[in-house]
Amino acid sequence: MPSRTPGFSRRGLLKKGAAAAAAGAGLAAAGRTEASAAQGQAPAVVTGRTFRAWVSRGSGPGRTTLQDVKMRPVTGRMVVVRTEATNLCYSNVGAVLGIQAAPPGGTLAGTDSMALIQGHGGIGVVEAVGPEVRRVQVGDRVCVSGTPQCGSCYHCLRGRADICQLLGRNLASDLIPVADLRDGTPVYSNSHIGGLGELMISWEEWIVPVVSKASNVDLGMVCSCVSVAGLGATTSGTLATLAPGSAVAVVGCGPLGLSAVQGARIAGASTIIGIDPIRARRDVAMKVGATHVLDPNVEGDRLIERVRALTAGPTNRPWSGGRDSGGRRSGAGADLVVEAAGAEFVRPKLEQGPDPSGILPMQQAYQMASAGGHVITTGLVRGTIALPAFLFAIGGVTHSGGQAGGANPMRDIPRFVEMLHAGRYDTKPLATRVVGLRDVLDAYEEVAYRVTITALMVL
Ligand SMILES: [Zn+2]
Ligand SMILES: [Zn+2]
Repeated sequence: MPSRTPGFSRRGLLKKGAAAAAAGAGLAAAGRTEASAAQGQAPAVVTGRTFRAWVSRGSGPGRTTLQDVKMRPVTGRMVVVRTEATNLCYSNVGAVLGIQAAPPGGTLAGTDSMALIQGHGGIGVVEAVGPEVRRVQVGDRVCVSGTPQCGSCYHCLRGRADICQLLGRNLASDLIPVADLRDGTPVYSNSHIGGLGELMISWEEWIVPVVSKASNVDLGMVCSCVSVAGLGATTSGTLATLAPGSAVAVVGCGPLGLSAVQGARIAGASTIIGIDPIRARRDVAMKVGATHVLDPNVEGDRLIERVRALTAGPTNRPWSGGRDSGGRRSGAGADLVVEAAGAEFVRPKLEQGPDPSGILPMQQAYQMASAGGHVITTGLVRGTIALPAFLFAIGGVTHSGGQAGGANPMRDIPRFVEMLHAGRYDTKPLATRVVGLRDVLDAYEEVAYRVTITALMVL
C-alpha cells in the first residue's frame, strides 16, 4: 500500500544533499570534471568566511542585532550570494523589531529561540555553489526569491510554483544551520533565504538567474517579494487573466499595491483605481498609473458604490454591451481587484486606515468586484472574513489567495526585469528609503510606521 515517506522533512532532504556532497568532496577537490561541467556542476566549496548579518533571537524589541557570523561549508544544492540589495518587507516587521501583535507571517513558529538571519530574499552575485547546483554558476547575478520553485512538486508540475511545496518548509525543524556565532551558536537563514546580511546562504530552489546591468536599487526593487506579487497578480496570468481595456481596483497602495497598479497599466487596463488612506501613497498611485484614487476614510460605507460607479463603462443598455446590472448592485465593479492592504502591525504615523486588522479592506475588495470578476487577496490580516452570503454564493465573483500574486519565479521574475529594462516598471517612487547595513533597524521602523513606501538595504 502506498504511503508517505516517514519522517519526510526539508531538513532531511537537505542533509542528504550535504552527505552526497561530502562524499564527492575528494573528486571536487581535484577540480571540475568533464561530466560535472557538462551538467553545470561546480565543486564543493569549503569556507570559514566571516560576514556580518542581522540576526534575531529571543523575543521583544532588541531581538535583532548585527553579528559577525562564520559560514559553514557549502554543500549539496547550497548557493552563496554576495548581497547587493534586500527589500525590508513589511511582513517581517514583527520578527525584526520584536513586535508581538504581528499577524501570521511575523515570527515563524518555533524559531524564536534560534539565531536567524532575517530577511526573505534579495539580489546579488553568486560567490559559491554546492556540487549539485545546476541553475546558476559563480559570478551570476541572481534574485534570491521569496518563493522557491523546486520544479518537481505537485504544485510546480501544475504550473503553480507560487505555492511550491518547499514554501511551507520553513519551520524550526526544517531549517539547517548555515553559519555559527562567535560562541558557537548555530545560525540559520530565515525561510532558507535570509537577506539582511553581507551574504545570503540559500538553496538552488530559491535562486533565479537574472541577466541585468540595472542598478542595485532598481533590480533589488523589481525582484523584491512585494513587486513580484503585485506584478504577478496583474501580469502572470496564473490566477486571473487581465484583458487590455479592463477595470482594475487595487486596495492598499504600499509597494505591493503600487506594483499591481503598474502591472495593470502595463497589461493595458483602462480604469485603474488605487485605494489607500495615506495621501502620499495615493499620490504615488496616480504617478505610476492609477486613473482614479479613493480615500477609504473619506468614502466610508460608500467606497464599494464609488468603485462600482467608476467602473460602470460607457453604457448601461442591455443588448448594447451594457454591464450595469442595476437593482441591488448598480454600477459594474472591477474586472480584477487586488487586495494589498493587510493589517497594521503598529499604528502608522501617517493616516491610519479604517480597520487596523485589515479585515474590512479585504471584505470590501471582494464586494467591489464585478459579476464575473476576480479578486486576488495578498494582505496579512488578523481575524475572520465575513461576506454577504448571497453575493458569495451566486455573485459570480471568483477568488484566489494570492501568495506571490501567482508569480512563477523562474518564468516571471526575468520577465519583470525586462519590464524594468524597457522602462515600463518604475522602481523610483517605491524605493523611497535606501540604507546601508548599519541603518537597517532605523529603516525598518520607518517601514513599520508607514512613513516610507518601502525601504531597501543596498550594499
Ligand atoms: Zn515579503
Ligand atoms: Zn515545487
